[in-house]
Amino acid sequence: MFNYSLQIMVLAVAVSLTAPPVAAQKVKEPKALNADWSKPYKPFRIAGNLFYVGTYDLACYLITTTKGNILINTGLAASNAQIQSNIETLGFRFADTRILLNTQAHYDHMGAMFAIKKKTGAQLMVDEKDAVVMENGGSSDYALGGHGSTFKSVTPDRLLHDGDTIQLGNMQLVMLHHPGHTKGSCSFLFTVSDEQHSYKVLIANMPTIVTEKSFADIISYPEIAGDYAKTLKEMKNIRFDIWLASHASQFKLNDKHQPGDAYNPAAFIDPAGYDAAISNLQKEYDEKLLH
Ligand SMILES: [Zn+2]
Repeated sequence: MFNYSLQIMVLAVAVSLTAPPVAAQKVKEPKALNADWSKPYKPFRIAGNLFYVGTYDLACYLITTTKGNILINTGLAASNAQIQSNIETLGFRFADTRILLNTQAHYDHMGAMFAIKKKTGAQLMVDEKDAVVMENGGSSDYALGGHGSTFKSVTPDRLLHDGDTIQLGNMQLVMLHHPGHTKGSCSFLFTVSDEQHSYKVLIANMPTIVTEKSFADIISYPEIAGDYAKTLKEMKNIRFDIWLASHASQFKLNDKHQPGDAYNPAAFIDPAGYDAAISNLQKEYDEKLLH
């Protein structure tokens, strides 16, 4: 009896030594319904040291500085190679990516974050309110969560708060906390320059509503209605020259630019388009409150 249990014990110790300490994360990216999300798109210079390196609809932005580059958003998991080749096509080194930013922790902007962080060694800086959902691969998201991880978990290197500055070389970006779409959705405001002009740029996370539920029923995010209201109010008062967004369709990239077009930052000066988009979202929000 003693020998038998000792044998079991020895076996158990041996198994625990060889077994991996933590079960590998299972990631199940939802099947993308929109083919535009993965369709390749020719990278181009938007304005000064700001470049478009995303897919046809999932916008990714590269900001070059005197000390390496900043990449905002990463598309779906499979877009990893496309983003790298877009950066290299423009003549930049992927390995020079120093800082990774994200406008919202949904899989369509986070899919390739883990892979890109690993390959470049860049520092990931995120809105503190999205930190938890980034670490569990989206499984705790109040709207898209509950089905396990939809993107590979990443651990942020720095947590950002409303109004914080991200500094790299000669560039400074201000993070604007714009919650609602996710708890830590955010936008970025910064100035880029070319030989003639400077442009104040807003990369806006548009506060679209993703949940079918009534706000009152979202118990894991009791502040949701107030967060959307505050975000909409703040977004109406931002001053900028150029606005862009997390999805190309949100700022009508394809009306403003055709692949191969000459450099033309003026194409992205569209305050009326921004105001119209925000006022549509305000209407959606107001209607949502009635249900
Ligand atoms: Zn989203």
